[in-house]
Amino acid sequence: MNILLVHAHPESRSLNGALKDFAVQRLQSAGHSVKVSDLYEMNWKAAVDAADTTQRLSTTRFDVAFESKHAFENGFQSEDIGREQEKLLWADAVILQFPLWWYSMPAILKGWIERVYAFGFAYGVGEHSDTHWGDRFGEGTLAGKRAMLMVTAGGWESHYGPRGINGPIDDILYPIQHGILFYPGFDVMPPFVVYRAGSTDESRFARIRDELGQRLDTLFSADPIAFRPQNKGDYDIPALTLRSDILPGQTGLSVHVSDRKSESRHLTE
Ligand code: FAD
Repeated sequence: MNILLVHAHPESRSLNGALKDFAVQRLQSAGHSVKVSDLYEMNWKAAVDAADTTQRLSTTRFDVAFESKHAFENGFQSEDIGREQEKLLWADAVILQFPLWWYSMPAILKGWIERVYAFGFAYGVGEHSDTHWGDRFGEGTLAGKRAMLMVTAGGWESHYGPRGINGPIDDILYPIQHGILFYPGFDVMPPFVVYRAGSTDESRFARIRDELGQRLDTLFSADPIAFRPQNKGDYDIPALTLRSDILPGQTGLSVHVSDRKSESRHLTE
């Protein structure tokens, strides 16, 4: 299988750098083809601006979404954007690897998303009707591919637990996993998170490597997170709210992950 690893750390001799090298080796030795987009090494331009298109639609006002659409549809995107889109189309699985910085991804990776996820490529795809609200959240250009986050965090696991002060890790990562990965169609694997990254020594690193190795070995066989597809009946359209008879009275991010067994039990009770 083809795997794209997008790596966002400024130092190759970091924990992230070591985990990236390990992941590439492990995947290659399992027979996969691996491409790495090492964003700092590539000197990736993070900010969206008018230089992203070689031929502007309007020279009076730079409208990000419409210039993106125009450039994507007509071959006017800057080359670096097109190259990364090609890698995404080539990949059967995509791994985004980064240290958690201010409860999110480093700016360089956010900028990779903002520029590579063009209008017509990652959003603005598909028709809108009373039963179908665009090809997104389970459908879209990247449907059929898998994605996984590989994240290191300074905080402890308990800090990110159900009552941890930072908020649950699933909630912290929801905008990335649901909003950035599931949105254009990826099946999203549970994240691989290294907590308390600063206290990593040789023996802990060996354990982390083993756990990561197992996760990589099952990248194509383990179950993805059961995010609810937008257009398969769970949501009222166009309100895009979860149907009132599903998990009645419950709110919060977790309602967008289905627990089919307990829901079918509930419906038959
Ligand atoms: P490094 O600093 O490179 O290494 C961590 C430890 O691993 C070191 O002790 C190092 O010696 C050891 N190590 C490295 N390589 C190896 C190896 N090959 N073998 C054995 N040991 C090794 N944390 C949060 O939880 N939430 C936040 O919101 C958050 N925001 C941050 C914002 C900023 C701007 C910064 C700088 C940090 C933030 N942190 C946060 C902490 C951050 O997540 C960690 O610093 C980061 O995840 C550590 O990853 P690293 O690759 O930089 O580790």
